Amino acid sequence: MLNQKERHSKVEEDDFTLNTSSAEPLELDDHYTKQKSIAWGRCHPMMFRKGSPTVVIGPHWPLFICAFLSFFIMGVLFIFLRINEDPFIFYTTLIISINQCISYLIVALINPGIANIERVDIEKNQETSQKTWYCKVCKLIQSKETQHCQDCDICIQEFDHHCPWTGKCIGKGNIKQFYYFIISSIVFMIFNLVLILLKIKEQDSRAHQQQ
Ligand SMILES: [Zn+2]
Ligand SMILES: [Zn+2]
Repeated sequence: MLNQKERHSKVEEDDFTLNTSSAEPLELDDHYTKQKSIAWGRCHPMMFRKGSPTVVIGPHWPLFICAFLSFFIMGVLFIFLRINEDPFIFYTTLIISINQCISYLIVALINPGIANIERVDIEKNQETSQKTWYCKVCKLIQSKETQHCQDCDICIQEFDHHCPWTGKCIGKGNIKQFYYFIISSIVFMIFNLVLILLKIKEQDSRAHQQQ
């Protein structure tokens, strides 16, 4: 004879056996079964680190290629023109030209701050909700500093502007590198302009002496 407790546990065991053997396979809804796709707008992520893109090419990549080729050709031209010049002038041209190309490449290639990874839960924190807004395109709650770029079609953290010459946005991820590139460009232009003017002046004075 089974006492009440034993009988109860037996019933539970039977129920469990019955349930597991006869149960239909669980049907998961789309929320679980569909792989979550992460949108990158019109940007093209090339390399990833821990799920976030490190190298991103923007939607205006043909302009990026054209601008890079222009900087590269100008740099190479100035270097070749100054091979026979004073070593100080030659090496300064070499360093300034390489610096110009590399600083441009860094701005145009690194992630400008694509904001589709971190999701802020507006319901949980009232304080957070005051500093956030909802992007209807990305369908994400974003911080106040984040803006949706129409050209890239994605939200960018601390959006500064969309720069077609680098092919993409300037934001949290590449703003410092962008300022460095601007300074590099000014140095590159002033240095080469001064040397060209000096060269013209030198040739003029030589021509006068020959007359
Ligand atoms: Zn957005
Ligand atoms: Zn953009």
